[in-house]
Amino acid sequence: MEYSGKSRIMCRYAMNGPYKEPFACFTCRKVFKQTNRWELPDHLKISPGEERVCKCPQCGQKMADVGHDFKAPKQKNIKQWEKVRILYEHGYTYHSCGCCGPGFRPVELKDVEDFIVGNKTMSDGAILLEKIQNRIKARDSSNKN
Ligand SMILES: [Zn+2]
Repeated sequence: MEYSGKSRIMCRYAMNGPYKEPFACFTCRKVFKQTNRWELPDHLKISPGEERVCKCPQCGQKMADVGHDFKAPKQKNIKQWEKVRILYEHGYTYHSCGCCGPGFRPVELKDVEDFIVGNKTMSDGAILLEKIQNRIKARDSSNKN
């Protein structure tokens, strides 16, 4: 069976762009856009909450799921890439719902340590707050049922 150019179905989402997920390779200092996880063929689909593993097409190492708001530094800008890598390893990515952005991120590599340390001292309180909020949420939803 032959496929003519006319019979090929164009994917509208692939054309329009913002639906792709950026993955960064810290070794090559490059970002590779991957098909959105919801558009993957069934055998490649992953469950919600499960980490998606994408390998770098260039060096084969596991890439970082940096999030839609990630703006890749220039490839030569090793310090900026190092900053992004350190932040990523501490769980700071650039995922957001699109309306309020990913929140504050340090601009310079030298600020990263302060940022991470500063966030750590705050996070105990934040964890507690989240626990309380979850408890309230659970209570509310059980009241509704
Ligand atoms: Zn790579």
